[in-house]
Amino acid sequence: MKPFSYVRATSQGTAIQTVAGDQKAKFIAGGTNLLDLMKEGVMQPDRLVDITRLPLEKVETISGGVRIGALARNSDVANNKLIRDRYPLLSQALLAGASPQLRNMATMGGNLMQRTRCYYFYDTAMPCNKRSPGSGCAAIEGYNRIHAIFGTSDKCIATHPSDMCVALAALDAMVRVEGPNGERQIPISEFHRLPGDTPEIDTVLGRDELIMAVDLPESRFARASHYLKVRDRTSYAFALVSVAAALDIDNGTIRGARVAMGGVAHKPWRAIAAEQILVGAKANAQTFQAAAEATVREAKPYQYNAFKVEMSKRAIALAIATAAEGTTA
Ligand code: SF4
Repeated sequence: MKPFSYVRATSQGTAIQTVAGDQKAKFIAGGTNLLDLMKEGVMQPDRLVDITRLPLEKVETISGGVRIGALARNSDVANNKLIRDRYPLLSQALLAGASPQLRNMATMGGNLMQRTRCYYFYDTAMPCNKRSPGSGCAAIEGYNRIHAIFGTSDKCIATHPSDMCVALAALDAMVRVEGPNGERQIPISEFHRLPGDTPEIDTVLGRDELIMAVDLPESRFARASHYLKVRDRTSYAFALVSVAAALDIDNGTIRGARVAMGGVAHKPWRAIAAEQILVGAKANAQTFQAAAEATVREAKPYQYNAFKVEMSKRAIALAIATAAEGTTA
């Protein structure tokens, strides 16, 4: 690993100033992804600014919703009573990710910022536009079984690895950040980027902006929601396909619907076509199937990941049906 210096931030202001003043400095919290990337030589910051002592761990109510501090640990959020009662979808998604040990270290902010698990991205001997812009993409003609089927470009077909962010997409979360120019709020749907011509840029967050919290608006979806994750192993594996489904059903008719997917795109993929079919329709198997089929119509598979199209269709229909039962099992 390349040598680096380490400083522990004592306030949000000094943390932001330190990173703003040093192009090669990075924030570090749980370090569950960044340290791996540094060991592999994929990321090589000269300085790490440790933010773990900043007071950003609270989970608290705010006008109708809940605010989760950026440094709240994934395991604490998943088991928090407010989250379990009001946003069981988020709790399920968090518990579907990583392992208990990693969830005890990983923070909300770090989860938002984790980078793709494309194996070519981690292999510094291979071309990768995300790691080394302009070098090419080894996955497009390579072994692309885990790669994206939506929103790809001819520069990158990587997927976003987070489960948590898929639930946040379905819940319309807002990311609160602070930088040298003050605070701003970023809707989760705009926080992560599609690859386009610049796959090296994962998010719209400025290099010197610090994530402060994630705000969840009041939700009508607590009772009828479900997170379904399909993966190669039953634990400690990234999603091949995942679906966060949340419904508001009144007397058999769907009044509101949220469907988001993981493992299929460079960002959490909101299935807008599915939601449009669901809202106003009867909550039955035909509706769920139609929503699933509409979603995969725009899929563009590659040589080894065509199975994700059918898998997505089945996962969407099953996740929605399970949500409709009002069960979180
Ligand atoms: Fe790199 Fe993206 Fe291609 Fe993977 S898919 S090799 S991350 S450019």
